Amino acid sequence: MKNLKTKSDTTRVVHAGVEKNEHLAVVPPIYQTSTFKFENADHGSRLFRGEEEGFIYTRMLNPTVQAFENAIAMLENGHKSLACGSGMAAIHTVFSALLQNGDHIICSDAVYGPTVTLLETIFTKFGVKATFVDTSNLDEIQNALRDNTKVIYVETPGNPTLVISDLIAISTIAKSANAQLVADNTFCSPILQKPLDFGADVVIHSLTKYLNGHADVVGGIVVTKSENDYKQMRKILNQTGGVLAPFDSFLVHRGIKTLAIRMERHCENAQKVAEFLENHSAIEWVRFPGLESHPQHKLAKSQMAGFGGMIAFGVKGGLSSGKSLMDNLELCQLAVSLGGVETLIQHPASMTHASMGKTAREAANITDGLVRISVGIENVNDIITDLKNALGKI
Ligand SMILES: *Cc1c(COP(=O)(O)O)cnc(C)c1O
Repeated sequence: MKNLKTKSDTTRVVHAGVEKNEHLAVVPPIYQTSTFKFENADHGSRLFRGEEEGFIYTRMLNPTVQAFENAIAMLENGHKSLACGSGMAAIHTVFSALLQNGDHIICSDAVYGPTVTLLETIFTKFGVKATFVDTSNLDEIQNALRDNTKVIYVETPGNPTLVISDLIAISTIAKSANAQLVADNTFCSPILQKPLDFGADVVIHSLTKYLNGHADVVGGIVVTKSENDYKQMRKILNQTGGVLAPFDSFLVHRGIKTLAIRMERHCENAQKVAEFLENHSAIEWVRFPGLESHPQHKLAKSQMAGFGGMIAFGVKGGLSSGKSLMDNLELCQLAVSLGGVETLIQHPASMTHASMGKTAREAANITDGLVRISVGIENVNDIITDLKNALGKI
């Protein structure tokens, strides 16, 4: 569609990446093929030399995957994007492209647990040093800068503490240090936050979460601002092979059609659940960017179009009370992952962030009593009733 770029996100999610196809199908076909025929020997060799555009082999590029990549690049106001087999494959692709032996990266201390493990167990082997700081504190970032800092990596809101990092201020620091700002935007989706508009150079998503939204695909995506980053990353993704399959691309492409209305409901429901929790006598504390009590509520308001569906909280009595809550819920399901239509609840210290180790967790404020809830799109009164009943049983 012409001029889709100028339309609102609610319209863009429905039409993005849907190109005209041979039979004018409203939903483009799934190219479930591993390889593509060449017209003749010369055509094949021109494609391989990059003298002509076309499809060769699905690990390199596939029309179904490419249509989906175009959609996400547009929604993030980016240049191009690369669909990966998981969020971790996307993060690995970005680190591999932007970091060399001897380089340094500054990373938010409150990030998805395996991101920390990836840096500390794999990239250290290749001579990349990582410093973990509270990226909501600009002084900590400034103090951690070294001559060889190539990447500042932030997740905002951070997982699972929901701490907010100032994208504009951090991108200014990154620019002054000749480093690139990479933002994991999984918790927001492009509907609530577009980090490239705030100065970030690269955006990452776990597609598994809000973008797909239906808890039935594992995938990831990288969106770049520059052609150079895109080319480097495409080369690496092609060589390491962590691509997204055509069918999974089709599913997530279908998922994003409802992204705008899903995010609206997630935000609405989470605000009500957060307010309910904050006023409940069994709850010790609640962290949600949409609450006035969130220390960076104003900053969240300035860079997010909505506060999202993720809430962190602590139950009075700590871990044992938190466990009792989780075990007594009926509607809210005890499972890791997030961003799906169903409400999920989990315990980061023993689940998603267990691999980080207790010292790193404590430094990042991921206390043993912290419970994380991903508020779904069910009727909010049903979610609240479920929580009320389970809290009553502690
Ligand atoms: C889930 C998640 C990831 C990793 O994505 P996978 O698809 O599970 O590999 C990365 N970052 C954040 C914020 C996540 O929630």
